[in-house]
Amino acid sequence: MTARAFTFRTAQGVWINDMRHSAMPHQKWPCVTLDDDAVRDLAACMRLQAEAGFNSVTLFGLLTAQSWNPDLPRTVDRERARRVRAVLAEARSCGLKVLYGLGVYSWGFDEIIARDAAVRGPNPHAMCGSRPESWAWMTRIIDYLLNEFDFGGFHLEASDLGRCSCGDCAPESNTAYYSRLNARTAEYLRKAAPEAMLMVNMCGYLPRGTTVPRQDWPHLIELGRHLDFLVDPGHTSPFIEPAARRDFIQALPCAFGTSGGIWVYPPQRWNRQRWFIPYTARTGRHLEDLHADGGRAVEYYMGPIANPGTEVNIAFGGRKLADVGCDNRDLLSDVLDRLYRPASRTAHRRLVDVFTEAEEAFFAALSPAPADDGRSRGQIHLAPLAGTRTGPPIYLQNAMDAAGREAYRRRLAALLPVVADLENACRSRARVRRIAAALQGALADINRVQPHSATPGT
Ligand SMILES: [Zn+2]
Repeated sequence: MTARAFTFRTAQGVWINDMRHSAMPHQKWPCVTLDDDAVRDLAACMRLQAEAGFNSVTLFGLLTAQSWNPDLPRTVDRERARRVRAVLAEARSCGLKVLYGLGVYSWGFDEIIARDAAVRGPNPHAMCGSRPESWAWMTRIIDYLLNEFDFGGFHLEASDLGRCSCGDCAPESNTAYYSRLNARTAEYLRKAAPEAMLMVNMCGYLPRGTTVPRQDWPHLIELGRHLDFLVDPGHTSPFIEPAARRDFIQALPCAFGTSGGIWVYPPQRWNRQRWFIPYTARTGRHLEDLHADGGRAVEYYMGPIANPGTEVNIAFGGRKLADVGCDNRDLLSDVLDRLYRPASRTAHRRLVDVFTEAEEAFFAALSPAPADDGRSRGQIHLAPLAGTRTGPPIYLQNAMDAAGREAYRRRLAALLPVVADLENACRSRARVRRIAAALQGALADINRVQPHSATPGT
């Protein structure tokens, strides 16, 4: 029997230092330093991705984040270009295509907008979508990218920082506006680089909680003619109404996907062993539902593999995407066996129980309880992205009430002695120690938000 696999199994970086093993204290998000550590940690994560079954990886920030230098080649010095090529070579050696995270009219244009009045509308982060000068900048950047670097494809994103709302642009609906810019960019890329994999992520297409009205579907269908796949990420909720998803997928000329249903997102300055949130049961069910509806693409969130929950979520995700029919618990068990190499059946079973219990404890503690058994929780922010301070653990502060936090504390604390016993029962002891560190990190944060003595009812 052949495995039922997703066609486009993309690891979503997102930013190059999101996969870094160590925190970058006091750095503003998104930090795009590309030093030896970044290259080494990206390589380690890419090896895990490829081994798990991913076939491409999206990376943002290889060349810039907010600002291309208007003299484009001056954006990237020789040393950085060398490191970018090293990352691309590493990906190729693992069999992964690198999709360059390309801002379309926004993400990367701040300096161009500040200097060139011809592209400037009311949004300082997004070029005007109606001016020919904006399109000229877009094509100059694409030409530069294609001439200088051998990317496997492009992740196009027009909508994360909002749009132009000048008199010429305003009459278009969000879906029409973003789809037009993405389609034109994809069409240009397709002609110039026919082999490149092209996808659009709809991040920010519409205000949160709203869905694309049926009369706007034709804009996405036209966009789909120029793409390999379209991703409705679901940061807070999906833009394609769940009940209509199957019809939409049938109408779309390219593959369709999501970001995997649930993901945890810390700023790069956050300690990598400060949380422990495995979510394999939930993401497993999400991927089964998506595949059953006809979805054949996923852009699955990465993170630092120095976090034991993140490492397992990635190793699980790639395998589930490569064979969606696998039982989720069996798959988790297999992943833990490979990574931790437990010395006995009992140790193996207890390890599976630790990951299962940590997932259940987290989702049961959320308030309000996530709809649909937590399957579509979307993005979970651990801390505020803005600023340079470490920031409070907002996932504990805002997403749980006092009773939820107390229950979460109790359930995580109960895992500590089990994990301590496992250290001598697994061949990869370093990994077991990382679980203990992540549990202690999460417990310290719970205690910070809610000191023991102040807990009501205990
Ligand atoms: Zn405009």
